Amino acid sequence: MKEFKHFINGEFAASASERTFENRCPVDNSLIGMVHEAGQAEVNAAVAAAQAALDGPWGKMSQAERIKLLDRVAARINERFDEFLKAECLDTGKPEKIASHIDIPRGAANFKAFSETLANHPTEAFKLDTPDGKSALNYGHRTPKGVIAVVSPWNLPLLLMTWKVGPALACGNTVVVKPSEETPATATLLGEVMNECGVPAGVYNVVHGFGPESAGAYLTEHKDVDAITFTGETRTGEIIMRAASVGLRNISLECGGKNPSLVFADCDMDKAIEGTMRSAFVNCGQVCLGTERVYVERPIFDAFVNRLKHGVESLKLGRPEDPEVDFGPLVSLEHRDKVVSYYKLAAEEGANVVIGGGIPDMGPELNDGAWIEPTIWTGLPDDARVVNEEIFGPCCHIRPFDTEEEAIALANDTRYGLSATIWTENSARASRVAEQMEVGLVWVNSWFLRDLRTAFGGAKESGIGREGGIHSLEFYTETKNICIKL
Ligand code: NAD
Repeated sequence: MKEFKHFINGEFAASASERTFENRCPVDNSLIGMVHEAGQAEVNAAVAAAQAALDGPWGKMSQAERIKLLDRVAARINERFDEFLKAECLDTGKPEKIASHIDIPRGAANFKAFSETLANHPTEAFKLDTPDGKSALNYGHRTPKGVIAVVSPWNLPLLLMTWKVGPALACGNTVVVKPSEETPATATLLGEVMNECGVPAGVYNVVHGFGPESAGAYLTEHKDVDAITFTGETRTGEIIMRAASVGLRNISLECGGKNPSLVFADCDMDKAIEGTMRSAFVNCGQVCLGTERVYVERPIFDAFVNRLKHGVESLKLGRPEDPEVDFGPLVSLEHRDKVVSYYKLAAEEGANVVIGGGIPDMGPELNDGAWIEPTIWTGLPDDARVVNEEIFGPCCHIRPFDTEEEAIALANDTRYGLSATIWTENSARASRVAEQMEVGLVWVNSWFLRDLRTAFGGAKESGIGREGGIHSLEFYTETKNICIKL
């Protein structure tokens, strides 16, 4: 049986308290291993190691040397691709077919993308005329922020964690990562890779545990953490924001969503169906950018609902290693309880269940796993809880609309504002509607197509701040103005 230890100052360490918790595979609820739970002592040690590393060889390294080292980390993840793939799929139950295309390659790429931005992006410079008839030269100089706490979720564990760690390290910071308690494996494996690549001790640290009164809270409340970057639920983001207010620490929050998709009658139906199948059901619906509300223009409403239903019927559920499988279980039995409670609520709120709505019979070997049926509803009122609250499961509600104005109003009628998807072949409509979406990201005729140089983040209750490209550099560095009197 595996043991998941903390990674502190370049070494794997058990908890002094010997407190551990189980890591179970959601495919069949089998025990993967025991995870050490960090107390205050382990978090203190990790933060102290990260702080000391800023003054050690890492702090003295040139930008070019750091970038070379991070390129090596990306290459080494790809060399150990199969180990990362197996670990991620065991923790999450997601199909290897998906993780081998998204989680692991993108997780590795995050160590390269930001190095290029850092190397190529200039800072500002201004020449100022001074009263003595001479002048002064001002220029911006970036310095690392210091010790960054990275608190990450379970849905795309490696990818979302390196999305923060990549730019943080490229900018010269050190990190203490608190991965989700559900998915400790790949963050731990990355510790081995850091050592193999010669990343100095203390630059990358991992502490395992839960949120409140555990590793998450101890880390985000730690006075020697200089900035916090968080991905997870909005309610958790609020708690972390309060912790960050002590000592005025900078914070980046990437939180929940209840993302709309607008399907206009002038869309290419094949593209819209293919895209909505992915945005609603990939990763068992556990993608923050996923679609849970679909608004379809009335003339094509029935055809769209029927075709999406056929798409769901063709999904193959099964074990991650089966190359035919495109749909795995939810991440845990606990999360399935939450999703099932919304399935029941949908029935109570008067939904017409087009397909799904329950727990599938997967046979004796898999029935203990966190399996769930992909589900489509129609007919719910706009104020139904199922239409307004983030479920984070493989389900969507489809509602007809008659005018562009109505569709925009429906899409924006939410406290969330992460992403929106628009399906139309009319480019004037595409940009007109996109500009009116109250969200951080809009896709037109695509979904989850990411250029890492662009801004990523949410509006309203979906987050604060932007990361990606130059936005990551702005978060992970302090820009100092240097004024030289000439
Ligand atoms: P979560 O908020 O429950 O947990 C996220 C992380 O925060 C975990 O590591 C957890 O242990 C930690 N945590 C929990 N309580 C804490 C506390 N009081 N103090 C410090 N740390 C604490 O979220 P989750 O269930 O792991 O992930 C699903 C959520 O994440 C969904 O709402 C989803 O929309 C969101 N998400 C957002 C994005 C984005 O980019 N906007 C991406 C992925 C997931």
